[in-house]
Amino acid sequence: MKALRWHGPRDLRLVDLLEPSLRPREVRIRVAYCGICGSDLHEYVDGPHAIPVDCPHPISGRRAPLTLGHEFCGTVVESADPGVAVDARVAIEPEYRCGACDYCLRGQYNRCTSMGFIGLMGDGGMAESVVVPSYTVHPLPDEVGFDQAAALEPAAVALHAVRMSGLQAGDACAVFGMGPVGLLTVAMLRQCGAGDVIAVDVNAKRLAMAGSMGASGAVDASREDSTSAILGATSGRGAAIAFEVAGSQATLDATLGCLRKGGEAMLVGLMGKAQVDIFDTVNRELRLTASVGYRDVFPTLIAWTARGLIDPAAIVTRKVSLRHAVPQGFDALLADKGQVKVLVAPFDADPE
Ligand SMILES: [Zn+2]
Ligand SMILES: [Zn+2]
Repeated sequence: MKALRWHGPRDLRLVDLLEPSLRPREVRIRVAYCGICGSDLHEYVDGPHAIPVDCPHPISGRRAPLTLGHEFCGTVVESADPGVAVDARVAIEPEYRCGACDYCLRGQYNRCTSMGFIGLMGDGGMAESVVVPSYTVHPLPDEVGFDQAAALEPAAVALHAVRMSGLQAGDACAVFGMGPVGLLTVAMLRQCGAGDVIAVDVNAKRLAMAGSMGASGAVDASREDSTSAILGATSGRGAAIAFEVAGSQATLDATLGCLRKGGEAMLVGLMGKAQVDIFDTVNRELRLTASVGYRDVFPTLIAWTARGLIDPAAIVTRKVSLRHAVPQGFDALLADKGQVKVLVAPFDADPE
């Protein structure tokens, strides 16, 4: 089978591999689509960040070189779990969990002490087939297309962040960063009963997409000050909750700055050390919370998609073959911020 493997920064190789045999409670998936994530881009540009190079991951037992891709779906072609049927169409929830640590026993498996992602800490979905633990598999009803199912993973990040926030119906919200997760956060806030949802980015195409995902307002931070724009849009009150999905000091400053007193900054974007004005944070009784990965959201997302309440595929801007995944996928995403989500289709010679 063909697979796109990470060997090092700027070194992704399309290779032919033998299919591994299944261990108990594993299933083999014939991949329909696998999305390219921002974290895959980071690994490509200047990794390793999450990819284990020296020590194998405790659950997958794998280290580099390994196959990228954690946003995928497909058809079960072989199953070593009586609970998973061959031929089932499935989406993958790509979080490894040990099932035995304190967090797993509480059902908080995204906090597992051995937590890791398929496609970063083990072989992933940018391949013709992939072997995954059966607990990661969610059956898809016929109403959910594979292009929608491949975008469920970033939608899961978004919905978990909304659930981790203290969102109340009608709350005015701001979302900073209209990448895939930011755009889907807009859609989840709309679906979960938020009031005004103001999208902030510096790219006009992405802001236009935010409008079609349900944003009530759009702020182009390259043209105007986002803090004052959000204060203006909320009659001077400020946002109840602001989601930081860009991962920069400037957007963190604006995320905190646009909040009303008692408001909540939900941190989703990744960055290293940053500065926070604690004097201001204390005096305005702000809350800083964080969200990582997801738990218990895939079934809800699949049901919402099947009923037409959300469309995760709305973020997809291009589909490419496995053969062209690097130039037309990875490189295109780096060169053009108008590209949002590129899906890799291992079995289509040239899907677009
Ligand atoms: Zn991702
Ligand atoms: Zn665990």
